[in-house]
Amino acid sequence: MTFEALGLNTSIIKALTDAGYTKPTPVQEQAVPAAIAGQDLLVSSQTGSGKTAAFMLPSLHRLSASEPAAAGKTPNQEMQAARARGERPRFKAAQPKMLVLTPTRELALQVTTNTDKYSVNLRRLKAVSILGGMPYPKQMQLLAKNPEILVATPGRLIDHMESGKIDFSQLEILVLDEADRMLDMGFIDDIEKIVEATPDTRQTMLFSATLDGVVGNMARRITKNPQVIQI
Ligand code: AMP
Repeated sequence: MTFEALGLNTSIIKALTDAGYTKPTPVQEQAVPAAIAGQDLLVSSQTGSGKTAAFMLPSLHRLSASEPAAAGKTPNQEMQAARARGERPRFKAAQPKMLVLTPTRELALQVTTNTDKYSVNLRRLKAVSILGGMPYPKQMQLLAKNPEILVATPGRLIDHMESGKIDFSQLEILVLDEADRMLDMGFIDDIEKIVEATPDTRQTMLFSATLDGVVGNMARRITKNPQVIQI
């Protein structure tokens, strides 16, 4: 099996070749074509299986084919224009197209680093991490650029959502990475709140070591006719 056979576009395949990837891993072989087709996914797979690329490659493929997020001015440009008019600039909420929720800062940073590698030839698609412990002014600067992809831990994301800094009405793709660990860490209420703030039309992909019990219940509640992949 090749990356071409999975249906990914040439900009992404070139990035993978440059990163030294020669062929898809088993989870990528199953997840990528289904996700490109827009299906919801429930995937049980371990760290090290190549799961990050399994959700990020089809997402980059789909987002690169859709309209840019901000027709017109970015929030940064709008604030500058307001200052030029002598008005006090108000922060305009970021409107991401894709959100990846992870249990830890470390995993979020890893997902962001990998995304940068896969999207190197897709200039407008950049990922930004929103993490607990990161200074707020720095995060506001990142959000003001209206990034299409947010990678976040649930607690900090809720803070920004509730203070009107992020608007999920344009969200197309939601990924829950290591969902079982997020539930173990007590993030269930935060996750429910975030999911509720996103459109019903979104594509949802959930990755977890197990799909049984509490995580299985949540998984089935937040996905529609998901393809179940067990590696
Ligand atoms: P993950 O399971 O997403 O944490 O990925 C584990 C490691 O495998 C990461 O360092 C990836 O960069 C790498 N990786 C993912 N997919 C492939 C692939 N198809 N070929 C070679 N390395 C890969």
